[in-house]
Amino acid sequence: MGPVEAFIRGMAVTGRQFIATITGKGLVTTRYPKVMREKPQRFHGRHVLNRYEDGMEKCIGCELCAGACPARCIYVRGADNPADDPVSPGERYGFVYEINMLRCIFCGLCVEACPTEAITHTQLFEMSTTNRSDAIYTKTELLVDGDGQPNHMFDTDRFADLGELAKADGWMRATSSQGRAAYEGQVAWSGSAGVGVRPPERGQSELPDESAADSEGDDG
Ligand code: SF4
Ligand code: SF4
Repeated sequence: MGPVEAFIRGMAVTGRQFIATITGKGLVTTRYPKVMREKPQRFHGRHVLNRYEDGMEKCIGCELCAGACPARCIYVRGADNPADDPVSPGERYGFVYEINMLRCIFCGLCVEACPTEAITHTQLFEMSTTNRSDAIYTKTELLVDGDGQPNHMFDTDRFADLGELAKADGWMRATSSQGRAAYEGQVAWSGSAGVGVRPPERGQSELPDESAADSEGDDG
């Protein structure tokens, strides 16, 4: 192939790609942020702190999430619940709760460690800031309102889709954190303010046929 022919063939490839780009045909990418891709149910986005359906905070200030965090980016302080006006069920509540999102690697270990399903991931990942202090999320931003409405550091940010923040229970609806099939279809989590008790994850709503599993075991 001569240099002129190679040049023409190369320009033909470029031209095809150019036309595909401006017409939108054959694109494998999404026109973000105009088009938001639907994310997996268990997407690890920005966290929220949940409330029970009666508005009580789920966090009991136990600090297990902070202990499990490999990035050391959670700071929790527990305090005794006021006897006449408790914040959470039980003895204590999360008095201080902060996550440094600059350090967070969104591994989900805090969510796995939490005994009360207080902290969960949402589907929102738009958290860019122009200074470090805005990356420290406190209870003000993390804790949902009494009706379950999530909060955001920049609620006027056009990329801050509160609908993405409301999708916060995906991980709970997995088979189980241990992956045991025996938990399929079993609701083993508490209801949350604003959304109630979420059903099991799609495709895992049916209880397994234990008799079939038994006979398979017999065969083996
Ligand atoms: S997602 Fe991982 S890194 Fe981020 S706060 Fe939770 S445990 Fe820490
Ligand atoms: S979020 Fe969960 S693990 Fe962390 S302090 Fe609160 S109750 Fe404990």
